[in-house]
Amino acid sequence: MTVNAIRQRPGLYIHVPFCAAKCPYCDFYSVPLSAYASGREAYLTQTCRIIRHLPEEFPGFSPDTLYLGGGTPSLLGAEGLLRILETASEVLRIPADGEITLEANPGTVDFSMLRTLRQGGFNRISFGVQSAEASELAFLGRRHTAGDSRQAVQWAWEAGFPHISLDLMLGLAGQTRETLARSLDFCVSTPADHLSAYLLKIEPNTPFFRRQVQNLCPGEDGQADLYLAAVEGLEERGFRQYEISNFARDGQYALHNLKYWEGTEYLGIGPGAHSYWAGRRYSIPRDLKNYLAAPSLAGILEDEGEGGTLEEYLMLRLRLAEGVRASELNRRYPSAGCWEELCRKALPFKQAGLLSLSPDPEGGFIALTPRGFLVSNALIGKLLF
Ligand code: SF4
Repeated sequence: MTVNAIRQRPGLYIHVPFCAAKCPYCDFYSVPLSAYASGREAYLTQTCRIIRHLPEEFPGFSPDTLYLGGGTPSLLGAEGLLRILETASEVLRIPADGEITLEANPGTVDFSMLRTLRQGGFNRISFGVQSAEASELAFLGRRHTAGDSRQAVQWAWEAGFPHISLDLMLGLAGQTRETLARSLDFCVSTPADHLSAYLLKIEPNTPFFRRQVQNLCPGEDGQADLYLAAVEGLEERGFRQYEISNFARDGQYALHNLKYWEGTEYLGIGPGAHSYWAGRRYSIPRDLKNYLAAPSLAGILEDEGEGGTLEEYLMLRLRLAEGVRASELNRRYPSAGCWEELCRKALPFKQAGLLSLSPDPEGGFIALTPRGFLVSNALIGKLLF
């Protein structure tokens, strides 16, 4: 299957803003569940209410992917998660063969819960494994062990999940090519068919930032070395890179996430979630109380401006290993006439090994190489301006 073969129905993202505790590097919006005794029930009631209003507010919205991310969605329990899925399936007519993904942390699931979720319609699960090394997990402040990860994946497989994805982190304190290779071996020894590998980024307003943890981590060159080792190591182990940070076995791409990079519409529900709908981008404030008091989704969206511009399309599309296709670019932006200009600007970077390029106006393409992905922001900026 190629990326272009993906169906173009919209996606639905639901942000679950609860975690057992806050990890010291994390910038996602989440609050400790224990601090909100009644928060779980209030969140579930409000989220199902918002979903029921979607057909009036967003006529024609009929997604074929649903992604419950967070936060730690598994903390809602099987009953809570199925309430959301059943409401969305009924109201929005999500097809039974659509991609229905749940994010979960190892250590927050058991076999019985996973079997209930699978029987209820979830068909993809993504575990935040991060590393198979005890010292790296301790550095990240994670509460699970590699043994928890192995057990969780095994349970998901036995419960019948056909698609399992694992998250890994790169650029950790003390991480070397050897420890990374052990984490890669760990992941590929499981039934997972998809892996995401993200470089640790120290965000402001996190404990890691305040503690200046970047001084303990590999520098720019070390990070680049680990990233390229991950790309090569995963290719050797049968996982093909299809996006800057994403790899799949046997073409099992994450269909929901592909919608983000392909410029397909999606709606996001929950505090901190983003939407792209009818040519505009929106966000919901990162505030649980505000979310719980919202009259509806349209009543809480903040307008982030125009979406779907040529610049945005190129920035998103160049994240994919497949890159930008001349035919698709000309079809989407017929008056832009920019293909030749883009090729002219890209040529020096081809010679530097940062991208591959075929200038043919029909079958041509521009695609970043793994070395190009490492400097993608600067490189895409040079192609655009
Ligand atoms: S479990 Fe995930 S979302 Fe929650 S604090 Fe840790 S990294 Fe952030």
